[in-house]
Amino acid sequence: MPFNSVTNIETCFEAIKVVPGILYYSHIPTTISAVFVGLFIFLKNKNILASKILFTLTILFFLWAICDLVTWTTTDSRWIMITWALLSLLFALFSLLSLYLVYVFVNNRDISLKSKILFTLLILPIIIFTPTEFNLVAFDIPNCESVEGDYFTNYSYLLSIFFSLWIVIFLVAKYLRAEKRERKQIFLFGSGITLCLIAFVGSNIIGSLTLNWKIVQYGIFGMPIFMAFLAYLIVKYQIFNIKLAGAQALVVSLIILTGAQFSFIQNPVNKVLTAITLLLAAIFGWWLVRSVKDEIKKKEELLELTEKLSEAYRRMKQLDRAKSEFVSIASHQLRTPLTAIKGFISLLLDGTYGSIPQSSRGVLEKVYLSNERLISLVEDLLNISRIESGRMVFSFKSNDISHLVGDIVENMVFAAKNKNLYLDFKAPQPSIAEFVFDKDKLREVISNMVDNAIKYTKKGGVTVRIREVKNAMGEFVQVIVADTGVGIAKGEEQYIFEKFQRGKDISRVHTEGIGLGLYVANKIIEAHQGKMWAESDGLGRGSRFYLQLKKDFVAPINAQMQENGKVAVEFSTQDDGKKEPAKTEA
Ligand code: ADP
Repeated sequence: MPFNSVTNIETCFEAIKVVPGILYYSHIPTTISAVFVGLFIFLKNKNILASKILFTLTILFFLWAICDLVTWTTTDSRWIMITWALLSLLFALFSLLSLYLVYVFVNNRDISLKSKILFTLLILPIIIFTPTEFNLVAFDIPNCESVEGDYFTNYSYLLSIFFSLWIVIFLVAKYLRAEKRERKQIFLFGSGITLCLIAFVGSNIIGSLTLNWKIVQYGIFGMPIFMAFLAYLIVKYQIFNIKLAGAQALVVSLIILTGAQFSFIQNPVNKVLTAITLLLAAIFGWWLVRSVKDEIKKKEELLELTEKLSEAYRRMKQLDRAKSEFVSIASHQLRTPLTAIKGFISLLLDGTYGSIPQSSRGVLEKVYLSNERLISLVEDLLNISRIESGRMVFSFKSNDISHLVGDIVENMVFAAKNKNLYLDFKAPQPSIAEFVFDKDKLREVISNMVDNAIKYTKKGGVTVRIREVKNAMGEFVQVIVADTGVGIAKGEEQYIFEKFQRGKDISRVHTEGIGLGLYVANKIIEAHQGKMWAESDGLGRGSRFYLQLKKDFVAPINAQMQENGKVAVEFSTQDDGKKEPAKTEA
């Protein structure tokens, strides 16, 4: 039967059409809710391309559903032919637009002109041949259906399969390359649109091949599935910039929309289905909004806590600064009288004020030693406050390390002898050339190491060595203080360099220490770009303290020399035991 869709349409007014039971249910709520979501997103994001495409997609779906409804419900063959002809066009456009949407949503930008031209070329045959007999070749009066043309229909379906596969491959590739949060969004969006396409394209193809058009009714449900994924993305990830209140409004409106269909649905099957949908939509919506509300509440609580914490941290910093200032002032005030006491006791012991009885000499020596301890404590406190206020002044010059160590050892032999300990110094052979370090500061550090060794040794003695080390990192000089004392427990070697840290049971050996000496020493060595560490074979088996300096150390270049030739060095005040290089500051 020759056929021309415009001029010569046959009719089937007498035919009795068997309409599928769920026809209205599958078409009306799905299309209305899809267009509603599309419009909602579009109104909130008028300038965003993805929302425009999404809205157009829902309109296409809506038009497709209307055309499909007409083909099912009318017996006027003219209408059937026109709407049926449009179905293929809308269907192809729908899959093309889905691909476009996926591209724009995932990449967050428009596609290139080349891709647009390619898309147009692919869809062009469908547009051109839609109103011709390639699309619909005839009209089947007994069944009151259009007869589709093979070439046109196959092309249209192949195109849809091609677009759908393109979408899946593109999404998988993007998913694999994306970061964690992005991955979830790609997964949800991709799953939604892929399920929608599989259902919609698949059911249409199967319907067309088997001529069992009822199957298409089920394919339509792909769209609400996609909308549910979209709603989830909107509520959970605030995509399309829709905040919680907007998402709540969307979910509530969707439920009202579904409920409103009761007013015009007469078929009892459709009524039951609509009721079930309403219930499911209400449960899904309620769960979604509630879960996000909890999340947002938690986030807000966390934010509040963070603010409180940073305020507390700011206060703590302030207090810490005040404390450092106080310690600094107090220590300065203490230092002057302590130095005076030291001077006078020395004079007394030297006999400058006349000879003193032997019984008093012992007492005076004890006073002298206690005073020395106080001086060193005050010096440590002062150093700490200098370190924490970011200012410790150094005087880097070329010095002789062997000379310095020899001098220190000589001064401490007396203290060692007092405890019946030996104190040996093995001068390096050949001698070590001069290199740059701050002599006074290094004196403090090495004195502290030797003093500790004497303090924490009961039997045996202390050996001090200097050696040169050459390796791939450069040339170094090491000062090693080894003793036969109490040793260090496993795992304690690291943290004894931290502020106020002492060995676990060390107070039994020596009560007075407060765990500042090594901290200060380590900071001083850091400023020399050197390092310190301790080794021990275990408790009771002695220890070795190493101090390593760079032979080619040059004073920090960006440090400004002060008038007296000294350089101010700023320390990182982090107390986490990490050895950070010292920063320099004018
Ligand atoms: P202090 O001696 O005042 O406690 P330091 O910072 O000088 O403070 O030393 C920190 C800790 O390191 C000591 O309390 C001790 O536990 C350990 N320590 C230091 N030197 C030795 C050593 N020669 N032998 C064993 N333990 C040591």
